[in-house]
Formats: sequence, C-alpha cells, structure tokens
Amino acid sequence: MEDSAFEIKDGIPFITKPNFRISRREFIKIAGLVGASTFLGLYKSEVIKVFAQAAKEGKKLVWIQGQSDSGCTISLLQAEHPDIYDAVIQLGVQIPFQQTIMVPSGEQAINTLETITPDILIVEGSIPVNGPGGWEAHACTIGERNGKPVTMEEWAKELAGKTTTAVVAFGSCSAFGGIPHGKDFTGKSPTNAKALHEVLGSDYRTGAGLPVINMPGCPGHPDWLLIVLAAALLGIIPKLDDRGRPVEFFSNKIHDNCARRGWYDKGSFAKDLTETDMIHENCLWKMGCKGPETLSACAEYKWNGGINVCMNAGAPCIGCMHPDFPDNPTSPFYVEIEKIPTFLGIDTNTAGKAMVGATAVGIAAHAVRRGVTKHYKPPEEE
Ligand code: SF4
Ligand code: SF4
Repeated sequence: MEDSAFEIKDGIPFITKPNFRISRREFIKIAGLVGASTFLGLYKSEVIKVFAQAAKEGKKLVWIQGQSDSGCTISLLQAEHPDIYDAVIQLGVQIPFQQTIMVPSGEQAINTLETITPDILIVEGSIPVNGPGGWEAHACTIGERNGKPVTMEEWAKELAGKTTTAVVAFGSCSAFGGIPHGKDFTGKSPTNAKALHEVLGSDYRTGAGLPVINMPGCPGHPDWLLIVLAAALLGIIPKLDDRGRPVEFFSNKIHDNCARRGWYDKGSFAKDLTETDMIHENCLWKMGCKGPETLSACAEYKWNGGINVCMNAGAPCIGCMHPDFPDNPTSPFYVEIEKIPTFLGIDTNTAGKAMVGATAVGIAAHAVRRGVTKHYKPPEEE
C-alpha cells in the first residue's frame, strides 16, 4: 500500500494526502474497509471529490420525470453529501436537464434532450405505455417533435440508448412501477404503468455495459443514490441483486436491524398510536409494520442525514422499498401482516408473549430467532 493516500488507525482509514485525486482503487478500498453504512459519514469529502472530478471532466447528468409526484426530486434536494446547491454551484456538476430545477424551458430544453449524450441518466416515475387497458401514451409527454408530443417512453428509450455510464431508476415508480402501477379491485393495474427496466428490456446495457440500476423507495434515498453515482463515475460496477438493486442497500430485512427489534422478540407490541413512541418500548408489528417483509438498509442508514427513520419516529414501515409496493404484501397499510415468520410451526407473536419477563429465555430465544431469520427466505424473494 506504498502509494496509498490513506492509512489505517484503529481500524479506520484516514486520508493522509488531503488533495489527492481519488481513484477507482482508493474509493473501493475505503468503502470496502468501513462499509458503505459509515462511508458517507466519514468520507463526505471523497464523494464530493468524485463529483468535482466528474464536473471537471464535463460529465453530464440528465434526469427525466414520468408518472411521479416529484417526491424523489424533493428527496434529492435533501441530499447532504454533497447537497444539490454545492453540486451545481460550487462543483459545477452539469445537470442540463431536470424538469423541476432547471432554468431553460420550451424549445431550448427539448434541444438539450435531442443533442445531449448523457453520462448518467436518472429516471424518476413510472412510464405509461399504450396498450390494452392502458392510458393513452400521451398521458405523459415531454415537449414536441415535428409538431407531435414526444412520450416518456420514447425519451426513456432514446436517452438510455445513448447513455455512456449508468442508468438509474430512482424511486419505486421507476424501479418497479410503484403507486402509478398499483392494482385496482380486479387485481390489475388500470394505468399500464411500467418500470424503466420493463420498457428498456432485460438485455439493455449502457455504453459501459451496465444494466438499469434499480433504487426503489417512496421516495428513493438521496445519499444512497450519490454513493452509487460516485462509484459509477469512477467506473466501479455496483454489485446488483437479481432485481437490479445494489446489494449494499437492499440485502437485509429492515426488521433485522430495527431499533425496536428487541421489543418484537419480547412480544411487546403497540396496540394504537398512543403507544408508538420509543418511551413505550413497543414494536409496531401489530400496527401493520412491513419491516419483516422489506429488504432495505433504512434501519441502518436512517434518513435526513442519519437522524431518523419511520419506525423510530413511531410510524410503522409501509414497505415503500418493496418491489410490490403498494400492493400485497405491503398493503393494506397499517394492518398486521398475516403471513409471518414461524419457528417449528409456532408463530413469533405467540413465542414472543411466552418470553415476556423471562430474560434468560428471551436472550436464548432471540439467538434462536436470529438463526431462524438467517434461514428465513424473505417473502419478496420467494
Ligand atoms: S416489526 Fe417493524 S417495528 Fe417491529 S421490530 Fe420489525 S421492523 Fe421494527
Ligand atoms: S422504513 Fe419502510 S416505509 Fe420507511 S422509508 Fe424505509 S421502506 Fe419506506
């Protein structure tokens, strides 16, 4: 490690050459050593440095919005590493097209889309596709070409087709269909809304050979997006699961790392909203928490700069990062999950109640449950 720009003290890497130009190798080393969950907190400046490098090299980011409420854009505005003001104004990151925050409009904006070669394409919102039972495709258009409206589907295909580095489906609508794709009482989606990867096809790859990176969430997590983008800009291919999600953020059930997990194991459950604050020491499962069904790093990273997360704030998880959100098994919201992990045929609720007050038994059972959890195949993966 003689040419290394950092050294390790007490297991933590420290940057020893403050002005070094971060390389792909250094980024992987540091992120790998500390784990992504602490990476942003400790190495905010390194992520910022990657964006500064990208700006200097003239990398261009395009962000288009389909069927969405712009919540993922608002989420991006809450990013801290760097925040969007610093990224654009201080670092000079080029975002020539982003419907909500850009200044140009009309022909000027559409010309940008027609002529640009994006390095990064971010798609927010699902894509309406004309077809049986679907809305007219012109339900979601961006500008006109030769006097005709250009559909979101056309732009998504055209822009993805010329993106050099990474295409990210940011938020549940773009990654899996989300709320616009939600099923009606007949069990079908009345809108025919599609996820980005469905529109582009499973063989789609960027110029760098990457498939669509799915980063679900309602909204998507802004800091996770920036880590993935920083990695992609350095040529690092994020490890993705079979649903195209970065494994770093979508491998563990929320339930396994929840601050209330001990109360779940003890069978201590909130029955109504008056018992959901942390002082009452209750788990929110009976309030319909979908943490046991959902793979995501929400409980580890938390939100708003790592300050809080739904369950800690007294709100049951609604599974907004689940691929089937907002349908079964995430709905109905706030209703107890029927299908729960069982151990030897005993549901965990019953087992939990038996443990109340028995500390030693509780600790042993907790260990057993951890073992069960380890082998329990999350419902969304079945
Ligand atoms: S059920 Fe929900 S509140 Fe309870 S421990 Fe699991 S994730 Fe946390
Ligand atoms: S804890 Fe659940 S509802 Fe909250 S952001 Fe994460 S997945 Fe969504």
